[in-house]
Amino acid sequence: FSSATPITATLFPGDGIGPEIAESVKQVFQAADVPIEWEEHYVGTEIDPRTQSFLTWESLESVRRNRVGLKGPMATPIGKGHRSLNLTLRKELNLYANVRPCYSLPGYKTRYDNVNLVTIRENTEGEYSGLEHQVVRGVVESLKIITRAASLRVAEYAFHYAKANGRERVSAIHKANIMQKTDGLFLKCCREVAEKYPEITYEEVIIDNCCMMLVKNPALFDVLVMPNLYGDIISDLCAGLVGGLGLTPSCNIGEGGIALAEAVHGSAPDIAGKNMANPTALLLSSVMMLRHLNITDKAERIQNAIINTIAEGKYRTADLGGSSSTTEFTNAICNNL
Ligand code: NAD
Repeated sequence: FSSATPITATLFPGDGIGPEIAESVKQVFQAADVPIEWEEHYVGTEIDPRTQSFLTWESLESVRRNRVGLKGPMATPIGKGHRSLNLTLRKELNLYANVRPCYSLPGYKTRYDNVNLVTIRENTEGEYSGLEHQVVRGVVESLKIITRAASLRVAEYAFHYAKANGRERVSAIHKANIMQKTDGLFLKCCREVAEKYPEITYEEVIIDNCCMMLVKNPALFDVLVMPNLYGDIISDLCAGLVGGLGLTPSCNIGEGGIALAEAVHGSAPDIAGKNMANPTALLLSSVMMLRHLNITDKAERIQNAIINTIAEGKYRTADLGGSSSTTEFTNAICNNL
């Protein structure tokens, strides 16, 4: 790609610290001369009946049209009786796999310096199917849905990802000893796909044991694939292993090659508007977006500038023990480009 042929990508700055860290991404992309034109969409102030959420139909159409986008955090008010914005995005765009690489950043000391794993979370069903109801007063039910189609799809993606990225092992994380039907089906699908990839080692690990192993020795893992709820929890646990939510990126993969990259963290209302947020997670998510688009040289350059800035240690945001503002840290990355 040359800068003569820009690609249009949808940008959701999002809520809270979202606009501040989205600004960092725009600034860094400009400094690195990345051939991306942003189509910006904001969350609406009223429910759009066509999406049953504050997300506008136009913003969803924008992602469907561009097939690629970057998303800042979106706040979800609890118990207000409408669909979560993130759930709406996942469902409407059929973003079936959430990919989160988790690796130790050189120069930023945490308990481990050898973490290099990727969690792949089924993103559309399981415990987050949104099927909850009251049976009688005082008794509620939540349905965990596992389908063969969605399990095969995410397992297929995990093995494809492992192969394409030179990874050696895929671990399916489950609780099939208790949830024999649901997690049992998930595992059966993983086994079926594993047979097609004899060059990749396949193993099954029970979720509770997995947590213990991750905390004791995260280097034991390579690629992990799992149903929705386990993926939500395990991926945050992994973020904690390498320095916290301010650092970890992710990318959601949808049917037909749609990719929506997003930071793992939320809107951080406690520090919003204070120019304190760490933009690294969203920046590294934008790097994942660039890799998805095969704009590898720019992705590599931006990633190196981020890693070098953090490693130098002169400019770091408060969550990493520094005292730099979002703006100062972003300027330092631009200078390192
Ligand atoms: P949060 O991730 O917003 O914040 C947790 C803690 O981490 C806070 O102390 C915050 O200051 C800190 N933090 C998070 N990101 C940071 C960054 N980039 N730099 C520095 N510090 C950072 O989680 P929460 O408080 O539980 O959720 C707040 C809102 O965000 C809720 O409405 C929730 O629903 C929403 N949320 C959205 C997403 C998403 O859009 N993908 C994910 C999680 C939570």
